[in-house]
Amino acid sequence: MDLFQQRIEELRRIINEHNHAYYVLNQPTISDAEFDALLRELEQLERDYPQWDDPLSPTKRVGSDLSQGFVHVSHTRPMLSLSNSYNIGEVTDFLRRAQDGLGGAQVEIVGEMKYDGTSISLIYRNGRLERAVTRGDGTQGDDVTANVITIRSIPLQLPDDPLRPEEIEVRGEIMLPWEQFERLNKERAFNEEPLFANPRNAAAGTLKLQNSAEVARRGLDGYFYFLLADNLPFQTHTESLDALSRWGFKTGQHTTLKSIDEVADFIAHWDTARRNLPVATDGLVFKLNNLLQQRNLGATAKSPRWAIAYKFAPEREATRLLSVSFEVGRSGVITPVANLEPVLLSGTTVRRASLHNEDVIRALDIHDHDMVYVEKGGEIIPKIVGVDIKRRAADARPLEFVKTCPVCGSELQRIEGEAAWVCPNKWGCEPQITGRIEHFVGRHAMDIDGIGEEVAIALHRAALVNDVADLYRITYDQLLALDRFQDRSARRILAGIEASKSVPFARVIFALSIPFVGETTAKNLARAVGNIDTLMAMPADQLAAIDDVGPKIAASIVDFFAVDRNRDIVERLRAAGVQMSLSDNEIANRSDRLAGLKIVISGTFAHHSREEYKAMIEDNGGKNVSSISKATTHVLAGENMGPAKLQKAQSLGIPIIDEDTFLAMLGQDKPE
Ligand code: AMP
Ligand code: ZN
Repeated sequence: MDLFQQRIEELRRIINEHNHAYYVLNQPTISDAEFDALLRELEQLERDYPQWDDPLSPTKRVGSDLSQGFVHVSHTRPMLSLSNSYNIGEVTDFLRRAQDGLGGAQVEIVGEMKYDGTSISLIYRNGRLERAVTRGDGTQGDDVTANVITIRSIPLQLPDDPLRPEEIEVRGEIMLPWEQFERLNKERAFNEEPLFANPRNAAAGTLKLQNSAEVARRGLDGYFYFLLADNLPFQTHTESLDALSRWGFKTGQHTTLKSIDEVADFIAHWDTARRNLPVATDGLVFKLNNLLQQRNLGATAKSPRWAIAYKFAPEREATRLLSVSFEVGRSGVITPVANLEPVLLSGTTVRRASLHNEDVIRALDIHDHDMVYVEKGGEIIPKIVGVDIKRRAADARPLEFVKTCPVCGSELQRIEGEAAWVCPNKWGCEPQITGRIEHFVGRHAMDIDGIGEEVAIALHRAALVNDVADLYRITYDQLLALDRFQDRSARRILAGIEASKSVPFARVIFALSIPFVGETTAKNLARAVGNIDTLMAMPADQLAAIDDVGPKIAASIVDFFAVDRNRDIVERLRAAGVQMSLSDNEIANRSDRLAGLKIVISGTFAHHSREEYKAMIEDNGGKNVSSISKATTHVLAGENMGPAKLQKAQSLGIPIIDEDTFLAMLGQDKPE
């Protein structure tokens, strides 16, 4: 064997061992720096000797930003669900049924965690990961191999073992650990992106991303609990789990249990002990240990007869309601928030819970200072689910929703057909004014650095900024006169304001705080109307016909521009030099040449990035779609188009075009 090939293989083996020690055993054996040095050496060798490339090399764990699309594949064995139980009696019934089904035989049980992630099936052939597929509908799932390869605790290449059949299927749960989940949501909050409600949604969403480099960054983990193969040389489920763990998989907690009393103890222990696990669990799973017994019992159409899930009751605690604050949002909507005596729930201290709106308060019949039950069912925001009426003071009075704005005192209005109360004082109520300023300067809007909540309030209280157009009038001297600003911070804000004048029209629309107009809608509006005057004059029925708009948003846009002050703000922004139409460049690059076409992008390109191609498709009236179906009209293919995609496109007879052909369709030459 070639010396370099030998070293490459040796490095791959060593790095895999270190990955296992770090990500599965939690016992790193070398420093991060030493690990990086090994990885860099391997990367260099792989660059120099591409003939020994291996898609399962540990260097591939970082993923790439090529979108693969997901191909549907059939499961060799259906992925069933589990029947549920909620108390020890139901588990006892399950055991009795199983024993009856086995003619009264003794049974041994294995108790495991029910990991609350998204299930995955991994196929290994000759010890190499061949395919990773989501559960999908149980018979067919999505091939997410490229994303799974980035999960460092999942072995790509198994050690030799004569006991292992040539093809095995390993099933388990892909998880986003609490720590990563919280980090991700913090980032999303900062970027004004919607938060994930719980780690399960986050794991499922992450596994289906079109960008495996982003998947790699998010820090998924995998826990495995089934080994399936023809001719498995094991008699029990625990032997299977032990084999999985020898081969490098994380198998999680499991214990063999011999009696219903041991089952009860196991439940009692884990009901609280699970709170210290690094990942979310929503229950336990009990399985018969004997594989022959499993086979004899078989499965119903929905679930195996030899296993049952035990669901934990969502964590609930009683605590005292101290007071209710009524908070005013940027749109004037009043949100009641309960302030609670601090209580520990799922490992975090809860002090506040949203009460949503007046209807929710009525339905719960909350009185002042009630003892309330707080629940956290995998959701981030805890909710109040009930009241302990027995512990209510005799003279307690029903909680009153405010009639006037807690900030400006205006009489609240209730919008027809909606549960929300709104403060109508749009131009005089501070949180509404400062909320709109904060939104206007946000990263996805005008991207003006240095203006957070406190600065917005300071600018407003100094009467410098009453609406977003006033931002363009503030001067250096005015800022310095506020004691919170120094030379540098003042210059930074002014530079940001100046730079915002070239922010594209679509983001200006988004920045205006038109109710219900989000980023995507703003983009579609900009593309459809071209300039602000057309937008301001457009009747509701025409607006509603624009992609992603619809009657509710259309009405909101019409209402917004019916307000003189909003039109005035637009005029002052225009006078300040803010973009009120698509730029010449944006217009020059637009056409209807691709109208009606649905184009999938696949592979890597030489002339433009994938993002640029996507924008070109949309700017020319086409639609960029992510996966190939009968409705797809073209596949724009670069280098390294995925073989499965290629096959699918060919079998559906969809034309595959390269980038030169695509650019020619737009009447453009390829750039030199
Ligand atoms: P459900 O989706 O509520 O019907 O629960 C069944 C799912 O629980 C399975 O499809 C698995 O994805 C998941 N699960 C989590 N932990 C385990 C485990 N230890 N054994 C079997 N299934 C599990
Ligand atoms: Zn108000």
